[in-house]
Amino acid sequence: MYKYFFIQHPNNILSSPIEYLTGVSTLKGDLLRKEINVFTFKDLLEYFPFRHIDKTKIDLINSLHEGMDYVQVAGRVVEKKIIGERRAKRLIVHLQDETGLIELVWFQGINFVEKILTTGQAYLVFGKISFFMGKPQIAHPEIEVYNSQNSKGKSFLEPIYPSTEKLKARGLNGRQIAKLTQELIKKISTKDVPENLPHNLMLQYKLMGRFDAFTQIHLPANEINYQQAVRRLKFEEFFLAQMSIQKLKLNRHKNSRGLVFEKVGNYFNEFYEKYLPFSLTNAQKNVLKEIRKDFGSGKQMNRLLQGDVGSGKTMVALLSMLIAADNDFQAVLMAPTEILAQQHFNTITSLLNEMNIEVQLLTGSTKLKNRKKILLGCENGEVKILIGTHAVIEDNVVFKNLGFAVVDEQHKFGVAQRAKLWKKNDVAPHVLVMTATPIPRTLALTVYGDLDYSIIDELPPGRKPISTIHRFENKRSQVMDFIKEQITLGRQAYVIYPLIEESSKLDYENLMKGYEEVKSFFPEPKYWISMVHGKQTAEVKENNMQRFANADTQILVGTTVIEVGVNVPNASVMVIESAEKFGLSQLHQLRGRVGRGADQSYCVLLTGQKLSKDAKERLRTMVETSDGFKIAEKDLEIRGPGEIEGTRQSGALSFKLANIVDDRPMLEVARNAVAEILEKDADLELPDNQPLKTYLLSIKSKTRWGKIA
Ligand code: ADP
Ligand code: MG
Repeated sequence: MYKYFFIQHPNNILSSPIEYLTGVSTLKGDLLRKEINVFTFKDLLEYFPFRHIDKTKIDLINSLHEGMDYVQVAGRVVEKKIIGERRAKRLIVHLQDETGLIELVWFQGINFVEKILTTGQAYLVFGKISFFMGKPQIAHPEIEVYNSQNSKGKSFLEPIYPSTEKLKARGLNGRQIAKLTQELIKKISTKDVPENLPHNLMLQYKLMGRFDAFTQIHLPANEINYQQAVRRLKFEEFFLAQMSIQKLKLNRHKNSRGLVFEKVGNYFNEFYEKYLPFSLTNAQKNVLKEIRKDFGSGKQMNRLLQGDVGSGKTMVALLSMLIAADNDFQAVLMAPTEILAQQHFNTITSLLNEMNIEVQLLTGSTKLKNRKKILLGCENGEVKILIGTHAVIEDNVVFKNLGFAVVDEQHKFGVAQRAKLWKKNDVAPHVLVMTATPIPRTLALTVYGDLDYSIIDELPPGRKPISTIHRFENKRSQVMDFIKEQITLGRQAYVIYPLIEESSKLDYENLMKGYEEVKSFFPEPKYWISMVHGKQTAEVKENNMQRFANADTQILVGTTVIEVGVNVPNASVMVIESAEKFGLSQLHQLRGRVGRGADQSYCVLLTGQKLSKDAKERLRTMVETSDGFKIAEKDLEIRGPGEIEGTRQSGALSFKLANIVDDRPMLEVARNAVAEILEKDADLELPDNQPLKTYLLSIKSKTRWGKIA
């Protein structure tokens, strides 16, 4: 189905199908659609060049050198020959100017190109230079007959567009696409590309006008104009993205009805006064305040809680759940794995041991009989706190009055899943999503901009920073000796192996080999080892985990199934095998399994000798810092935004020009600008905001900002 059926303003020339443009045949139109998603004039206008060349600048052949990428030369064809057979067949053309000779090579379209090139004729040649045995060469250059007009009277920079092999074969190489955009730009005027940013904002940030930006990014009068055009269009991308996401949030705040938890009652107070095992950090208190405010606001809470590993998010969740109970509402706590759900259940039931409140655990492996009882308890309201895996949001789980849902250690919790939670009660319950790994604030606000945002930026007192070291695998026996020392001191240790693919046989073989090796260092009955991995049944997993948690075993050998959340404060050593295979956030999560008690803890990153540049950088970061937010920044820097877990399919980060890493300061500016506008004029009624309002209405049907991965 063609996109242009949906365009709202059929009168606008930009909504014309691409075939209406001079020079675009039906065949070319088809290719433009298939190859580069250009359906309409508008799409072509938004198809930006990846570079410009100054056509008036012609490189002399003897001035070409290795450091150059794209070059333009002019000269005569002095020789052409087809050499080689079958797949090795190629066309070699020698082009000469007054300073030297360059070789042009074609591996495809050989006969065609050979026919159209005339020996003795002068050509203008553009392409990516490479050197072969010290001689300059251009493979598949763009080439046109050279005459004095090519080089005269053109003051602008010529745009070069990304093209594809198929397009090139049909006469639409990077330069030929430029001819189309030139044609297009001739046809349009300011009214076709109306301004959409408020005038004051443009003045304030010195932004180029929209029409100018779109024309100058294609055909800039000079380099400065080009930079200004790019800047304006990037700003527009950030600004509009922020506008939709912040409006979404505003609308939610305005329109959503929420359950009112008006009081803090006995459950909370009794627990807080009698059973809270430590005093809360200020950060925990602040977040709790924010949550209480939301609870009382009459609006549904949708809050994202970011906090580093070990910052004490669970306690915040528990205290909030008690407030729900105080107001006669049920609460659920959902964890990503059975191990974690089980552990939360253990922690919370022991904390609430002396109190009269019913807490239940529901996971995929809950036995039928027990399950029935729990489901009944949820339905009749006896179960006040339900802890579990995704099982808790299955359709068969019915609540009497679910008021609050906590989603732990998961930032992949999408709108669809949240919607499922919302339906668990007539009025949607309050939702608190707690992240597994912090992501930089700007990013969080971009991806989860429709959520309210809280942060725990402080660790409980008395924590000693985990000492992290990197060792090569040939030092493994020393590392094992170190574990022995720690065990002698009464501590416990993790040894983690990478599990790249759940189904990978090799990974499991490595794990088993590793297990045997650890066993040879730590023979029974002096030492006991438990092993946990993804292929075990939930019961076996839990049993092995529990033995370690009870200190019946001193070593836990496992895969990343223990990555998030697991809490065994007596464990003081984390050894990560093949650490170079893990991503930064994973390493940080794993390391976060130790350092949970008062003792000095250690993390040892074992790797092979050969390390990639990125791997070295990851290891260095781990050794240098234990601040999850700093690590998240670094992760973003190394991997780019597309790879940040949970953000990949969000769409919220895919901009045409802007880059969320490199252009972060601009994103911040755009975000604040939007906030300021919406604060003063939420419905965009002010005259200065009319261009923006008109624009937003015109694109409304196409916006999908609500989707979050
Ligand atoms: P995370 O934020 O990673 O989920 P947890 O909630 O598991 O962290 O807390 C980590 C550890 O810190 C737990 O053992 C918890 O009991 C402890 N803890 C939490 N808050 C405090 C506090 N204010 N003071 C001391 N210890 C705390
Ligand atoms: Mg946790």
